[in-house]
Amino acid sequence: GGAGFIGSHLVDRLVSRGDRVVVVDNLSSGRRENLNPSAELHHIDIRSPDLRNVVKTESPEVVFHLAAQMSVAVSAREPLLDAEINILGMLNLLEAVRAVPSDARAKVVFASTGGAIYGEPESLPVPETHPCRPVSPYGASKLAGEVYLGTYRAVYGLDYSVVRLANVYGPRQDPHGEAGVVAIFGRAMLAGEPVRIFGDGADERDYIFVGDVVRAFELASERGGPTAYNIGTGEGIAVATLARQMASLIGYDRAPVQAPPRPGDLRKIRLDASKARQELGWQPRVQLASGLAETIEFLRTRQ
Ligand code: NAD
Repeated sequence: GGAGFIGSHLVDRLVSRGDRVVVVDNLSSGRRENLNPSAELHHIDIRSPDLRNVVKTESPEVVFHLAAQMSVAVSAREPLLDAEINILGMLNLLEAVRAVPSDARAKVVFASTGGAIYGEPESLPVPETHPCRPVSPYGASKLAGEVYLGTYRAVYGLDYSVVRLANVYGPRQDPHGEAGVVAIFGRAMLAGEPVRIFGDGADERDYIFVGDVVRAFELASERGGPTAYNIGTGEGIAVATLARQMASLIGYDRAPVQAPPRPGDLRKIRLDASKARQELGWQPRVQLASGLAETIEFLRTRQ
């Protein structure tokens, strides 16, 4: 998933520290322009039998697994498609990794979701020990991926870590998709188009800047145990407040249009990332205001 939003930033970081980076991406939502020219791209699907050859030939030390169907709304409409990519595609990847002899086998670092894996939380912010009761097929398929990692460790000794990401935002996020509200609002506001809020605007999310997330992947690959780490700020922002903040940064003066809530969307979620702080030495560095400003600047250049 290295041509995608988060993946391409991770690739930039790995290249900048001198790593050789090989990307597998089918470019379904990722873009070639996102991809660092020093990275080698295998334009294939993670469900393809060819994946095994790529892993065998390249023999990676670490596999960062970010390729996914990543929209809650799409998963609610097409749960089979979501499972084919997020469960069977991931299993195909784990099988490719398992085929490598154990002394040369890669560690897998998996991009899971803190936003959709817990379901509607019993208390906030949510720690990793909270029960996982996803209310969307996307949350279910990511949970299945985590469960399989544990199983592959038990049966085959696979090494892995999981990062459960909050709502990630930043430059290169697709503003035309159904997920990624900061990019969607930003593009619409810059174009002077109406902004749509699903529900009453009081839904709260934990927005984490992509640069902070890249550091979490790096730290998880180096120091993470075979377990899951929440990656978020611990703070909740109502979607209407986010829209107001962005409108004032952009100079947009239209009121948002209200639309019915979408199936699978939660009311409130924010993540307790104490475990990542204690075990990985990770904490968020970028404040929402400066992350939003950077994202809006990027969207301006794309207009
Ligand atoms: P993205 O859509 O930009 O990135 C996903 C990448 O995977 C794209 O480049 C896409 O082309 C590729 N891909 C999709 N299906 C593929 C397939 N079958 N075979 C090969 N490549 C495929 O999304 P993103 O926001 O960068 O998300 C990256 C990962 O982080 C995903 O696993 C997502 O579920 C997870 N995540 C994202 C967020 C967020 O807020 N963006 C939050 C939690 C978890």
